[in-house]
Amino acid sequence: MLKKYFAIPENILPHSPEYSKYQYIYGFSLLFELVMFYFTFHNFFVTQMYNLAVLDAVSFFMMIGILLDLKRRDNIVHTSYAVVFLIFILILTVDVFSLKENYSFLWNFFLPMTAFYLLGSKKGSIITLFFYSFFFYYVLSIIDEYITQHAAANIIMSYLIFSAVLYTYESSREKSYRTLDELLSNEKNVSTQLKKLSTRDKLTNIYNRVKLDEYLEMIYNRALRYKEEFSIMIVDIDHFKNVNDSYGHLVGDEILIKFTTCIQKHIRSSDIFGRWGGEEFMLILPNTSCAEAHTLAEHIRASIEKCNFEYKFSNSASFGIATFTDEESEAELIEIADKALYIAKDSGRNCVKSKRDLISSTKDFK
Ligand code: GH3
Ligand code: MG
Ligand code: MG
Repeated sequence: MLKKYFAIPENILPHSPEYSKYQYIYGFSLLFELVMFYFTFHNFFVTQMYNLAVLDAVSFFMMIGILLDLKRRDNIVHTSYAVVFLIFILILTVDVFSLKENYSFLWNFFLPMTAFYLLGSKKGSIITLFFYSFFFYYVLSIIDEYITQHAAANIIMSYLIFSAVLYTYESSREKSYRTLDELLSNEKNVSTQLKKLSTRDKLTNIYNRVKLDEYLEMIYNRALRYKEEFSIMIVDIDHFKNVNDSYGHLVGDEILIKFTTCIQKHIRSSDIFGRWGGEEFMLILPNTSCAEAHTLAEHIRASIEKCNFEYKFSNSASFGIATFTDEESEAELIEIADKALYIAKDSGRNCVKSKRDLISSTKDFK
């Protein structure tokens, strides 16, 4: 039950400053409640300082309110301010109420500690400055009456040095968090980059063979399980060797990039498009029949014919289609698409062929 109540929200990362704030607030509030509980009774029955007993009891309940509010709204920033504000008022009031009990000044250390930890070095400094302004003014006003000059000087000096040390600690803690943030974001960038490199073709930025294989397996298994239809299409640029021979490899690369852009205009977001190798590309078309794949291939073929590649070449590609109909294996599907492509090339290129052309073909491919 308590564990559930003192749980840190899952969206707060363990290495974030927010996480340590939650830890501080939970730990601090538990101790705070124990101390307030004790002093409420102690001040009421033992010292009989009723005003302090009431103050302790009120603080006890206020801290419960702050924790409930944190549970309800999950706003660690508001809670941090509320906790600092509560101990700000509480400690100053205790300082004043327990005039002769100067040991109560010892509690003053908790204000800067909490303010720096929960609000950071800048806001922590401002609040600490405010707090000690009130407190030092008070200390100076009771010199000779309740404390000696020597004691006042000791109190003021020690608190000032303590605050300066806390400021240094908090600044270096913040610096560590910033460094950690930078390191993590660098690592994230590197892993995104690596992921891209391992799944994308460097030249065209479409999926590479590895990713195509992965998608093909995934879509194949889904189709098998849910008795779905899907098609694959292999596209091979016609006479591409001539491009390299006539204009060189760099122009060939440029044309390959333009070629992929041209195909991308025709496909749906659910279609998977990648470089199968060299000047061959593959499209995996989920929930697409053979006839639909044919229509798409014809659109792409016509579009390639019209595309301005800036260099004169065949401006055409050949297409081989295979459609999953519940009996072919993955390897068989690729083989069918490959054979259909071969027939397309054999039929004079710049055309689309599929299994039915394969059946009607008299050629023996085995
Ligand atoms: P076909 O119509 O029969 O497909 O003829 P083709 O010339 O397109 O086919 P072939 O297999 O004879 O040649 C393919 C060429 O594609 C040869 C190779 O240099 C070129 N090629 C493959 N990958 C790249 C690449 O990344 N960049 C460039 N510039 N050329 C490439
Ligand atoms: Mg070719
Ligand atoms: Mg080829």
